[in-house]
Amino acid sequence: TPVENDMRLQRDSVTLKELIGGGQFGNVYKAIYHNQETAERIAVAVKVCKLEAEPADTQLILQESSLMRNFRHAHIITLIGVCMEQPMWLVMELASRGELREYLQAEKDWLPLRTLLLFCSQLASALVYLHASRFVHRDIAARNVLVCSPLCVKLADFGLSRALDYDAVYTASRGKLPIKWLAPESVNFRQFSMASDVWMFGVCMWEILSLGTKPWVGVPNADVITHIEQGIRPARPEECPVSLYSFIEKQVWALEAHKRPTIDQVAMVVENVLAQTIEGVEV
Ligand code: ATP
Repeated sequence: TPVENDMRLQRDSVTLKELIGGGQFGNVYKAIYHNQETAERIAVAVKVCKLEAEPADTQLILQESSLMRNFRHAHIITLIGVCMEQPMWLVMELASRGELREYLQAEKDWLPLRTLLLFCSQLASALVYLHASRFVHRDIAARNVLVCSPLCVKLADFGLSRALDYDAVYTASRGKLPIKWLAPESVNFRQFSMASDVWMFGVCMWEILSLGTKPWVGVPNADVITHIEQGIRPARPEECPVSLYSFIEKQVWALEAHKRPTIDQVAMVVENVLAQTIEGVEV
């Protein structure tokens, strides 16, 4: 298709540098992309797709990459292009500060509440954008957020987790669904919707406000849904303003999907709390 042709990059325009990390689809490297048309050289991240990927997967990854390319937002990692020959390379915007969870844990002694709320509001704006495009993300979690600069986070390659069948990705490759992030209807009936994204975003905000702590530590996966159905929710992170926590606890984490706010409403609440917070003090 024309879209796929558009995104084709010549392999010799990309020079791989050091390994940054590994995911289930392959390793990610820092690299330099030399744009022959503009003569620019820019630092990028390249995912080298696993060689053993099935041809069907390759097709899906390609389709999903074209989809990704249509999503342009200040807080979503941009796909720059694809080198199509095997092994396929996905060339994307580089988040030079790496994974959000590690960043939060490393910088926790000085990060002000205001910055944590800023990160939440940036991610909320990315989700407002995706939902306005009728796109349900299904895998919102702090582990899928990257840090570009000290005051800028971005949602990582959201398309690819959907490129393969979601259940197959988690049950076959990872061994388990991300139960501790999922809305109750996703766990019970495999239902995913904008409302289940809102629930997951609540968990993601909780992780950020807890400085990179995972939810439900020490609780077996099998018990989480029972806790939730009994009305138990992760406790208020120490830093989290009471008003924001009670909004997340009572509304974002409403058991029934239809009682949850829309992502637009969540974004507005986060914006308001941010506006009222100066350097770590709620005013
Ligand atoms: P997947 O569901 O695709 O397997 P994953 O989170 O397991 O996702 P990858 O997306 O393959 O892993 O990424 C592996 C690691 O590479 C990430 O955890 C991150 O540290 C790093 N990484 C990925 N994309 C980028 C990027 N655009 N900029 C900087 N680092 C990145």
